[in-house]
Amino acid sequence: MTQVQQSQPNCIFCRIVAGQIPSKKAYEDEHIYVFHDIHPWAPVHLLLIPKLHIPSMAQVGPEHAGLLGRMMALVPGLAEQHGCRPYPEGGFRLVCNTGADGGQEVHHLHMHLIGGPRPWLKG
Ligand code: AMP
Ligand code: ZN
Repeated sequence: MTQVQQSQPNCIFCRIVAGQIPSKKAYEDEHIYVFHDIHPWAPVHLLLIPKLHIPSMAQVGPEHAGLLGRMMALVPGLAEQHGCRPYPEGGFRLVCNTGADGGQEVHHLHMHLIGGPRPWLKG
């Protein structure tokens, strides 16, 4: 089974956190990094990731509750700052693809924050 690790040299998102691959940063703190998706589906498409290499939501346990709570708590502010219109007329979508059946392509836990005026490319 894949273990939670500090950083994985072959993980594209660990390399983004380390600054080895460029990204368009939207937010950063000690534990969390947020950047723009390279292939946006919508006017707003951010990826929220823990700096810790957790492969997916399937490896999340009670020890990660604080980290995930802090990630979720950033969402309303990021949505507003990046152009999602106010709830309920506006809003956004928060997606966490997990595993092959969940459509996950990058195996470093991430939440997609997708929004902005429609039409969107997908969804
Ligand atoms: P998922 O299918 O949930 O694993 O989504 C992975 C997302 O990562 C996709 O929406 C990709 O467009 C995005 N992505 C992959 N590589 C990069 C990158 N170098 N910079 C920004 N976003 C990326
Ligand atoms: Zn990683």
